[in-house]
Amino acid sequence: MSLKKQSIIVSSCLLGELCRYDGTAKNTLELSNVLDNYNIIPFCPEAPLFGTPRERISVVIVHGKNRIWIDNTKVDVTDKLVDYIDDFLSLHKEVTLALLKSKSPSCGYKTTPVLDVDLKKLFNGNGIAAQMFEDKGLEVIDEMNFLEKLI
Ligand code: SF4
Repeated sequence: MSLKKQSIIVSSCLLGELCRYDGTAKNTLELSNVLDNYNIIPFCPEAPLFGTPRERISVVIVHGKNRIWIDNTKVDVTDKLVDYIDDFLSLHKEVTLALLKSKSPSCGYKTTPVLDVDLKKLFNGNGIAAQMFEDKGLEVIDEMNFLEKLI
């Protein structure tokens, strides 16, 4: 019998890293107990690119395409995030599972507010990393569904 644990990409803030935009984390004991059974690969695209704390960013539909804007300035940071996430994925081609933080413009899966160009909410969708992971064929799990999916 193989003792090798399955690898899982996990949003770093769910692991206790103080990497959220406001310098906080979002870990829980329940989650860390479940993740003991996995080989964890931490993932946070925003902190290394934009620092912590940082300005809020959002998913915005511009000319029919999802882009990522800094809320206050409307500066488009999509390409920086795409490059970072692409590089991360190329280092972890063997991984098929990701557990991501809800509602984040990077990590949210079906829970992220998607806005119009006036920053008004249109619907809930995917953050940019969650979308790229799914497009690459990974199974993406929202943190709110982790118990049902991972146990
Ligand atoms: S939700 Fe994703 S991008 Fe935001 S702090 Fe957590 S790991 Fe980083």
